[in-house]
Amino acid sequence: MKQNDIKLEHLALAPLRELLLASSAPHGHLCPRQILGVRLGLAGAKALNIEVPQQDKNLFAIVETDGCFISGVQTATGCAVNRRTMRIEDLGKIAVTFVNVKTEEAIRVAPKNDVREKAWEYAPKNEKKRYYAMLYGYQLMPEEELLKLEPVKLLNPVGNIISKAGVRVDCAKCGEEIINEREVVQDGIILCRTCAGQSYYLVPST
Ligand SMILES: [Zn+2]
Ligand SMILES: [Zn+2]
Repeated sequence: MKQNDIKLEHLALAPLRELLLASSAPHGHLCPRQILGVRLGLAGAKALNIEVPQQDKNLFAIVETDGCFISGVQTATGCAVNRRTMRIEDLGKIAVTFVNVKTEEAIRVAPKNDVREKAWEYAPKNEKKRYYAMLYGYQLMPEEELLKLEPVKLLNPVGNIISKAGVRVDCAKCGEEIINEREVVQDGIILCRTCAGQSYYLVPST
């Protein structure tokens, strides 16, 4: 079988099959990072004793990179940016901190450092490509071999990240509205972070 003849239906194995097919549908491919996303999501939710995919908003995910990985996390947990149950702290890492919103209990989940090599042990004997070895390995590897879990404490409490619905103020300088208490107060004046000098962009002078 040539690589291009392999369909993702053949690659998604039980018991993650349904989640992996759902995760890969919008991408048109199944990749190792989506599988890791699903595995991290299931492990994190289990460690916090939260049933997933969640119907409510008890579980909050802070993901440390963007891309395909997020589809796996989202499919497994129901945490999503547009539901305000996920945020990206872009450290360029395949890792997630899951938080129980009610108790503030938080646990960071990441693959162990050697999983890429270990994956070969779970691939078919004749598999030559590392990519496919990872596809098999990340699905089949027992959780304790694949993942490390570590309790953490958020420096910015999850309540601050989520904030409250309906809170809004206007920036005293640019006049734009700020929601979710993202304003800063300088000398008693309410400013957006951009006007307070914490901007991520510059406006080129003409
Ligand atoms: Zn991908
Ligand atoms: Zn402003």
